Amino acid sequence: MTAPDPTHPYPSPPAPDGVHYRACNLCEAICGLKITVQGGRVTDVRGDPDDPLSRGHICPKGTALPDLHADPDRLKTPLRRVGESWEPMEWEAALDYVAAQLRAVREQHGADAVATFQGNPSVHNSGTLLSAGAFLKALGSRSRYTATSIDQLPHHFAGAEMFGHPLMLPIPDVDRTDFFLMMGANPLASNGSIMTAPGIRDRLKAIRARGGRVVLLDPRRTESAEYATDFHHIRPGTDALFLLALLNEVFASGLQRTAHLGGVMTGLDALKAAA
Ligand code: SF4
Repeated sequence: MTAPDPTHPYPSPPAPDGVHYRACNLCEAICGLKITVQGGRVTDVRGDPDDPLSRGHICPKGTALPDLHADPDRLKTPLRRVGESWEPMEWEAALDYVAAQLRAVREQHGADAVATFQGNPSVHNSGTLLSAGAFLKALGSRSRYTATSIDQLPHHFAGAEMFGHPLMLPIPDVDRTDFFLMMGANPLASNGSIMTAPGIRDRLKAIRARGGRVVLLDPRRTESAEYATDFHHIRPGTDALFLLALLNEVFASGLQRTAHLGGVMTGLDALKAAA
């Protein structure tokens, strides 16, 4: 591993040779990794079989981490575009430059003229995780874009409406349930994203092995269908109707249990009528 870059304000110390146990932060499955460093270089990355959560699982993104780390095009210092080329800058100068430009754009065009985009690389970085909220609030821009929009925003919305905060996300208890209903989810491709369930293939197999059912609804027969006991095509755009039909069945069969929700529940009759 090369010496720390002195232009970086927080240089990482070089990792000594040997085996290092770390967690992959590329997605919230947070797989445990066993990383071998030899001669200052990462020579091997594999899933840590002793990690109690991921149990040795690793996906191609995790195994590619050394490529990311050693990529010759990896930015190690701020670059400023000058015409058709790029010039390196010192961090202090870069931060001052960005601050001045942000202010100028905001003064000239308003707060919404500054757009932001967030995805896993920033959301799973402890530095930006701590600072992004205050920074975005200070920017005051409504032009906020994120991979969340096409991923789990409905989940956040439901969490905010039902539990009071978009990060209060119910997580299915994959390892204990005997009936796992998935609608439009494809955990074999997402690696159990949002459920924080690395190695989802084995977890779905385990539901079946203990006699449970894995029911999947999707307009497309996805990779996950191979691991379901029941797969049903559903017409795109009709998920809400399916759920209402499910509720109707609950009401019709008298299966609803609402006594403990008396103080916090409203609109049951309207829901029943709609269903
Ligand atoms: S599933 Fe892949 S990207 Fe996500 S934490 Fe595990 S190795 Fe990393």
